[in-house]
Order: sequence, then C-alpha cells, then structure tokens
Amino acid sequence: MTVKSSIPRRKFDVVIVGAGGSGMRASLQLARAGLNVAVLSKVFPTRSHTVAAQGGIGASLGNMNEDNWHYHFYDTVKGSDWLGDQDAIEFMCREAPKVVYDLEHMGMPFDRNPDGTIYQRPFGGHTANYGEKAVERACAAADRTGHAMLHTLYQQNVKAKTSFFVEWMALDLIRDDAGDVVGVTALEMETGELYIMEAKTVLLATGGAGRIFAASTNAFINTGDGLGMAARAGIPLEDMEFWQFHPTGVAGAGVLLTEGCRGEGAILRNCNGERFMERYAPAYKDLAPRDYVSRCMDQEIKEGRGCGPNKDYINLDMTHLGADTILKRLPSVFEIGHNFANVDITKEPIPVIPTIHYQMGGIPTNINGQVVTQNANNESVVVNGLYAVGECSCVSVHGANRLGTNSLLDLLVFGRAAGNHIVEFNQKNKEHKHLPANAADVTLARLARLEANQTGEYAQDVADDIRNAMQSHASVFRTQALMDEGVKQIAALRERVNNIGLKDKSKVFNTARIEALEVENLIEAAQATIVSAAARHESRGAHTVNDYGDTPEHPNGRNDQDWHKHTLWHKEGNQLTYKPVQMKPLTVDSIPLQTRTF
Ligand SMILES: Cc1cc2nc3c(=O)[nH]c(=O)nc-3n(C[C@H](O)[C@H](O)[C@H](O)COP(=O)(O)OP(=O)(O)OC[C@H]3O[C@@H](n4cnc5c(N)ncnc54)[C@H](O)[C@@H]3O)c2cc1C
Repeated sequence: MTVKSSIPRRKFDVVIVGAGGSGMRASLQLARAGLNVAVLSKVFPTRSHTVAAQGGIGASLGNMNEDNWHYHFYDTVKGSDWLGDQDAIEFMCREAPKVVYDLEHMGMPFDRNPDGTIYQRPFGGHTANYGEKAVERACAAADRTGHAMLHTLYQQNVKAKTSFFVEWMALDLIRDDAGDVVGVTALEMETGELYIMEAKTVLLATGGAGRIFAASTNAFINTGDGLGMAARAGIPLEDMEFWQFHPTGVAGAGVLLTEGCRGEGAILRNCNGERFMERYAPAYKDLAPRDYVSRCMDQEIKEGRGCGPNKDYINLDMTHLGADTILKRLPSVFEIGHNFANVDITKEPIPVIPTIHYQMGGIPTNINGQVVTQNANNESVVVNGLYAVGECSCVSVHGANRLGTNSLLDLLVFGRAAGNHIVEFNQKNKEHKHLPANAADVTLARLARLEANQTGEYAQDVADDIRNAMQSHASVFRTQALMDEGVKQIAALRERVNNIGLKDKSKVFNTARIEALEVENLIEAAQATIVSAAARHESRGAHTVNDYGDTPEHPNGRNDQDWHKHTLWHKEGNQLTYKPVQMKPLTVDSIPLQTRTF
C-alpha cells in the first residue's frame, strides 16, 4: 500500500515530539547510542517551558544534612495522597542522585557549597526521617535551575548530533492496522507544508496543558498537544482531574514565585501580619505541600483575613532574608517583583495567590516510558512504538499532588529510562514497519475542515471561553454543582471547536492556523479534566471538593474504599474506566494508606 504521494516523507529511527527537559534527556541517550533521532519543537529548544523552572531538582544527595532515597520515597508517596504508584516512585527516588550527578558531569552550573558540593535548599513536603523535620533536597542553580538544565542538555545534544526540527508542529500519531505507532504527521510552521515523519518509535514529550485555565504559570505554548494526539489516536488519559495550584503566583499576573522563596525562609502572612501556616501545619509550616498551602491561603481569604483593599490576596514576606541572600539565591524572583508587582521584595512583601501550575495526570506509561492502554478486559497493554515522558505523561509518580522539584527529576529519570529502553528495542528491530495507506488521512481531514470553513469562529474566542469555563468550574476549590455545570459547558464548547474557521488561508508562518490546531488539543485536555473531576466523588490531593469535606469516616474528605484508583478518560464516547493504584514498590515495603497530617 502506498501513502498519498504528494506528502513529503522523512525517515528516522526515533521521532521525539518536544525539546523540553524530558525530550532532550531522552534524545541525548539515543543520539549517544548512535540512533538517527529527530526532535520536533514548536519553539527553539531552549525556549521550551522547562526554561521557566526555578527552584530545583529533588535528589537525596545529603549535601547539607542527612538524607536518603527512602525519606524521598516516603515524602513522595505521602505528597501524592497515596495515589502515586509506589513502584515508579521507588524507581524515581533511587535514580535521583545518579541523574543529578550525570547533569553535573555534563557541566550544569549548579550553585555550590563552600566544600564544592551541589547547593541544596528545603522545599515543600521534603523531610528527613519520615516527616520528622525539613531537609534540604532541592539541587539548585540560583532560581534559574530549569534554564541551566535546558541549556546543558541542548549543548550535549548538539555535541551528540541530535537533529532538531525547530518550529515544527506535530499534528497526529500514525498507527498501523495492528495499532502500532509508526510515525507522526507534522507541519513545518515556516512554509505551512505537511510532512510524514516515519519512525520505528515515537516519543511524546510535549509538556503540560496549563493553558486550559485562564490564570496559569504556564507558557502560551502549553496547549496539551501530546494529550490531544494521544486522545485522537484512541489512547486514554490518566488522572486528569488532578491539577496543581502553586500557592505563590504573583496576584493579578500569575507569574510564578518559586517555592524556593519559602525554602530560603520566606513567610506567608495574612492581613494581620500573622504567619498563619503555623496554625494549619505546626510541623511543616510554610513548607507544607502545595495543595495544602493553597487551601489554607484560600481559607484565610474566605474568613476575611486576606490582604489589600479587597482582602483578596496573601502577602509573601522575604524582607527578613536580607538583600544579599535575595540577590544571590533568588535573583529572578527579585526581578519578577519589580516587573510584575512593582515591589522591591527586599523592602516589602509581595502579593500572591494560588495559580494553576502543573498537571499530575497525562498519557499513561510504565517505568520504561512505554505508553499503556487498556484492552476489552480492562487489562493494561503496551502500545508498540509509542513512549511518553515528562509533564504530558503519567507514570504516576505524582499521584494526586506533586512535590516541588519532583518534576525536573521525573523528566531526567524517565527521559533517560525511556531512552535506554528504546535503544534496546532498536537493537532488536532493525526494520521500519510499513506506513498504512491512510497514514495522513486524519490530519488531512482536520486541515481541510479549517480551509473549507469561511464563516466559523476565531480560534482565540473559543480558546478563551474554554479557559474561562475551566477556571470557573475546575479551580482550587471545586463543588459538585460547579463541576457538573462545567461538564455541560465544555461539551458545548467542543461543538464550537468543530466550527472554528480560518479567515487567513496563507501558508507561510500562519499563526492563526497553528492556534486553531492547538485549540483542538486544548479541548481534549479540558474535557478529560472536567469529566474525570466531576466523576470523582471525594477530595484527594489537589482535587478538593467542598461537598466532600472532613468527616470521621473520610478524613480530609478522602474515600479510599471507593476512590483509591486511577481514572482513565477515553475520548471515544467521552467515557471513564478505572485501574488500581500500584501499592507494591520494587524492593522495599509498601507505605500503607494513612491520613495526611502536617
Ligand atoms: C514557572 C514554573 C516553574 C517551575 N519550577 C520547577 C522547579 O523548580 N522544579 C521542578 O521540578 N519543576 C518545576 N516546574 C515544573 C517543570 O518545569 C515542568 O513540569 C517541566 O519543565 C516540563 O518539562 P517537559 O519536558 O515535560 O515539557 P516542556 O519543557 O514544556 O517542553 C515541551 C516541548 O514540547 C514542544 N511541543 C509541544 N507541542 C508540540 C507539538 N505539537 N509539536 C512539536 N513540539 C511540541 C514544545 O515546543 C517544547 O519543546 C515549574 C513549572 C513552571 C511553570
């Protein structure tokens, strides 16, 4: 069978969609092994969203105080509100020191202690001796850790001869009759030409979908493209109801102030100047996990102790740290204070509010990064030829709530693991599978619909309405009624997505076409989120629902009997299925279910 001959084709061993930390950690492993690897990115690699990461990478190096991976493992399971898979969490925490030292040897400019070891700072939920006291686990390069990491990985990839396709947008996965993934379709943004990128293996590393919400710390490119591609190809999305709100987004602007601020000693204060976290979390105080701190801030505001004329934000106070520490350890935060809040943080507190930050769910994978779906008997099966790593994936190390610094770690550990697994696969599979004759049909139909529609709506109007609906119906505090209404609104918005039109039909750098294609991904991530959230009748981690509050039977509103399970949202039929949480770690004893207290 032959594919429509007019579409140009390129052939590689591996195609990676995404040049953030996860995509470039995987590509490095592959290029070093001599594979022919192409990395596609909507933006220049070092502009990927990983560049914005500030606070650090979690690893129990123990450079400042005693630490080990068992403590890290316990903190991560507890942080996940017991929804994280304990085999994957053990794997990540054990591998953590190794991947950080790898980076160090590549030349990553970490901050240093006087003895030359990597500087580590405390972060939310990081403790020694199973919750006893805070520990410094975040390996940091000032407050520009993601920037330093991404540039290090890019340089190493250039050295290893990875092929980058910059400003190329992947559109759809290509699956053959057996369901195996054999490539992707992609648009060269500069020319508007469509290509087929053929590969023995495709790895999705497209980052998060934070732009499904109106107020977000995420970059504009974070439109959940990998999630959309997977959903359209019949792959379910896991645990999409769990979205992390970061406690300290600049009020009104949404720009992030790293948890590293509180790691360095910053304090959250209400309108009375009170350090209110001492009341809610006597042991962890301001460094309790993010879901908990966000809820406490909201509680203060609700009870009239918010700051400012409208009592609608909380103050983050760093004035006692001193200008020297701030300028050395938090130079970007200092600039953000000036640029986005007109505040000199060395002299006055800065207004903050919880802001959408991170998706815990995503494309389901195992610890090798292989994408797994369910068969008719609800058993997990691997999708041959497809891997996913980074924020777009759900290997389920974060469960219902991610600990700060565990994302950069997740990119490195699972990017490397997926790379190693693909190298092995490549050694056994020397030939490419044949492309199906209909390889580009789904994409051609999407593009044709946009071209044909003369009278449809602007993509940005529909995107804004999706974001506002999600902000109003699936935000920090959720109610069953709000979420149920959100389900209806997003279903109606899906109809409007189908009616988006393109008034400018030109091909060269037509950003309107790109945005319209992105909205088709936004809607998949948004619908997966709201439908999964409305169905989960409990509070767990970041999914806090007023209707499911603290009771003796269900402490913190968590209902393990009915809801200790992963959600899978299927685009086909807009349906949900569930799968068990993996409570058995690889080598150590399981951490049994407990009520979270701080
Ligand atoms: C402000 C901020 C600060 C943070 N600080 C920390 C921190 O200190 N520690 C920590 O652990 N975590 C932190 N995080 C979280 C962490 O930075 C992210 O989860 C992580 O960097 C995501 O990396 P990634 O490789 O999955 O994706 P990204 O870095 O987002 O990269 C995605 C890539 O996919 C490409 N792409 C997307 N769609 C397509 C498409 N259709 N076609 C082609 N290419 C595509 C993009 O161009 C990009 O190259 C922070 C997050 C934010 C928002």
